[in-house]
Amino acid sequence: MKEDFGLTQDQIDIQLMTRDFIRKELTWERIKECDEKNEVPMDIVKKCADMGLTSITLPESVGGGGMGEVTNSLVLEEISYQDVGFATTIGACGLCFTPINLFGTDAQKKLYADFILAGGLSAFCLTEADAGSDVGALRTTAVKDGDEYVINGTKAFITNGGNASVYTVFAMTDPNAGARGMSCFIVERSRAGISCGKEEDKMGIRLSNTCEVIFDNVRIPADHLVGQEGKGFKIAMSTFDITRPAGVGAACCGAMKSCIDKCIEYAATRVTFGQPILQNQAIQFMIADMEVRYEAARALAYRVAAGIDAHVIDSALSSASKTFSSESLVKTAEDAIQIHGGNGYSKEYPIEIIYRNSKIATIYEGTNQVQRMVIVKSLLKASGLM
Ligand SMILES: Cc1cc2nc3c(=O)[nH]c(=O)nc-3n(C[C@H](O)[C@H](O)[C@H](O)COP(=O)(O)OP(=O)(O)OC[C@H]3O[C@@H](n4cnc5c(N)ncnc54)[C@H](O)[C@@H]3O)c2cc1C
Repeated sequence: MKEDFGLTQDQIDIQLMTRDFIRKELTWERIKECDEKNEVPMDIVKKCADMGLTSITLPESVGGGGMGEVTNSLVLEEISYQDVGFATTIGACGLCFTPINLFGTDAQKKLYADFILAGGLSAFCLTEADAGSDVGALRTTAVKDGDEYVINGTKAFITNGGNASVYTVFAMTDPNAGARGMSCFIVERSRAGISCGKEEDKMGIRLSNTCEVIFDNVRIPADHLVGQEGKGFKIAMSTFDITRPAGVGAACCGAMKSCIDKCIEYAATRVTFGQPILQNQAIQFMIADMEVRYEAARALAYRVAAGIDAHVIDSALSSASKTFSSESLVKTAEDAIQIHGGNGYSKEYPIEIIYRNSKIATIYEGTNQVQRMVIVKSLLKASGLM
């Protein structure tokens, strides 16, 4: 990969270390096996935790890597090169931690860090069956009772839901106030009343666990409130501003690069009409277009990540990165299947998994329709029309 983002030597070292580690550990055979079983390779999760890959953005004061979104992007990009599903498993920890990092107390950061540094996973519990894009329609409630909150409700489609040891949970503290009645909490998995419901049998990213998380009269101390009551919606949206460029933007770039490498390798050896298919301009141009999308998506993702690290947050740019990267990956994976012909459609070749994995990026962390709503809102505001 070309490096022109002014990376520090530390960042390059982490990038190369992650590349070397993930390509050795998460082999194609292992990916295929886990994909078939819909299974998270927890032994590799543990190794990632030991290497600090699940705690990269945690402050050093609580034992984390103390690094920013550029470094996080490099790590998720490298993991996605092997498998977007496994990158989702690791990336979901950043999604869970970001609300605490942005709005939590030092004690909450420490509480979270203790679980993650011990090798645990975490999960971000926002979505419900009837509240996905329409986040303000949440039904989960958190009712203050003395010096505790009591949480009731069911979260849907939660990445790491079944494997996490700690959650951030969004619930209504004032159910009549819509989005302004939402609050955010840090909740340990060990609390009485938490269980996991239906596990999704997904089309792709099967190296990640996605399930319902059920809260049945779950009591947590009042000091587990993250930020202030009623600020949950703002906390969730601020979180996505930070996580979309790395968790989706850069991650999709890793998978695109994987498609490009696999297509060149395949096209150089697959012979039709007496010559490798790579000799055909039709094939070359498809690969060139993949490269154009990959470089453009990567430039945008790292531009936004660098902005975040410099405390310049631009919701519309984060959404643009998420949208462009995800749609670029879907198109790239589709063309990669085309270049592989019938073999691309077979489970014998990794390209089929990349294709199935690609689609989720246009859906999670807010659908691409929602991203376009964010982008247009920003443009209209800037034009004084809103
Ligand atoms: C594998 C997977 C992992 C996930 N992980 C997590 C997680 O870790 N934590 C979490 O909280 N959530 C998670 N989600 C949930 C995900 O973020 C939601 O599925 C997503 O936000 C869409 O919500 P929805 O499924 O309810 O779709 P809906 O909101 O029902 O949308 C359906 C369609 O309508 C469109 N639409 C809706 N409203 C509008 C509108 N106003 N204008 C135009 N189009 C509109 C949408 O774009 C979409 O195309 C995950 C989902 C999946 C599938």
